[in-house]
Amino acid sequence: MMSTLDLRGRALDVRFLRQALPRAEFDVTAALEHVRPICADVEHRGAEALRDLGERFDGVRPTHLRVPAPVLQAALDQLDPDLRAALEESIRRARLVHADQRRTDTTTTVVPGGTVTERWVPVDRVGLYVPGGLAVYPSSVVMNVVPAQLAEVGSIAVTSPPQRDNTGVFAGYPNPTILATCALLGVDEVYAVGGAQAVAMFAYGFTEAAAGDETATVCEPVSMVTGPGNIWVVAAKRLLKGLIGIDAEAGPTEIAILADESADPDLVAADLISQAEHDPLAASVLVTDSEALAEATQQALSRRVAATKHTERVATALQGRQSRIVLVDDLEAGLAVVDAYAAEHLEVQTRDAAGVASRVRNAGAIFVGDYAPVSLGDYAAGSNHVLPTAGSASHSSGLSVQSFLRGIHVVDYDEAALRGVAPHVVALAQAEDLPAHGEAVTARFSSAVPR
Ligand code: NAD
Repeated sequence: MMSTLDLRGRALDVRFLRQALPRAEFDVTAALEHVRPICADVEHRGAEALRDLGERFDGVRPTHLRVPAPVLQAALDQLDPDLRAALEESIRRARLVHADQRRTDTTTTVVPGGTVTERWVPVDRVGLYVPGGLAVYPSSVVMNVVPAQLAEVGSIAVTSPPQRDNTGVFAGYPNPTILATCALLGVDEVYAVGGAQAVAMFAYGFTEAAAGDETATVCEPVSMVTGPGNIWVVAAKRLLKGLIGIDAEAGPTEIAILADESADPDLVAADLISQAEHDPLAASVLVTDSEALAEATQQALSRRVAATKHTERVATALQGRQSRIVLVDDLEAGLAVVDAYAAEHLEVQTRDAAGVASRVRNAGAIFVGDYAPVSLGDYAAGSNHVLPTAGSASHSSGLSVQSFLRGIHVVDYDEAALRGVAPHVVALAQAEDLPAHGEAVTARFSSAVPR
């Protein structure tokens, strides 16, 4: 079912591993060229472009780009009670974990009379992307909104693709469970826009004149866009980064499992499939020093893939060049491989899984032992599921309260404190051939300095 990459007997330096390890065959650079005209169209034609692009890419032309409040309420009213209970528990756990992430301001007294304070200030307004192409993700509403709310972001807007199958009051809007989850979390600014055009909508904003007895629609530009999405969403975030802040590039999902012969092949197979289910470009990677486990996992995969709902999508992902069973000499080599791969999700299914997991340096999130499958983190562990992909876990973190905060340094020195350090500032300014820097300090102490 999956191809094998045999790294036994190889020297595993990072340069070799980066080139040898499997990655999805998608090219964000090429995707950038595809989304560039889409984003430009939204910049120049605003609401009309958003409607045209909805028709082209989602197969539905939204009448109202912003979801009216009664439609959000209707979605909440008709939400299945079991699903509501699950969402409420997911929200409760996410709030527990994310509340502990809040930073407090720190003030450092550098010298008497000289302090530097780091003040954590939320961004003013965010646009949160909730995917809705191949699958719909009410869980991504929770994962985006909970940290933004705990960071005390003043203005929160959510967007998700309109669904062509929606009927009745929901026709032309995102999936009702997504709308209901927004309502549950008290988010009332929700748009029926998906893909690259949604990122552009948040970056540029739009206004739409009033029609008939309806009021005008205004989407103010945001400071930051976060949330997972497919390659077009990732490309638009990369293209517009700078104009807007973004979180990590949270693209097509990845699972790596580091396992030894103590792992249960059936559970390994179930977990590999669970992430392959997201996208034909999703990556599932097993890293093991046990040939017996690798073989048993292949057999379990064959059984399970045939029986799972999204057989075709899963098989495409597992057989794609991004998915492999990687054979290594031992767990040390396995750790080198998973660190070089820097998976979005890493499961550790080995003896002393906690000890092995504590040695991992690069991963978006780590799931320890037999009872922490990635699906738990997708929905209800309390952790965040918006995580860095394509190796960016080596330098970026998953979404958190911090993602929405900026640390502002507040420098407060009195006269004596500045006088004490003035000769050092002047010396450094002279060394950099920037004498006016030094003069800005000495001017405060000497009336002889020309004004
Ligand atoms: P999506 O909402 O990301 O993408 C759907 C949108 O793509 C559509 O609305 C459409 O506008 C646009 N689109 C489709 N075809 C296009 C084309 N040819 N050109 C331009 N635009 C086009 O939903 P999805 O497709 O289901 O993808 C969701 C992705 O999010 C999956 O890859 C999944 O693995 C990933 N995901 C990642 C994380 C993470 O944290 N990394 C979490 C959850 C989901």
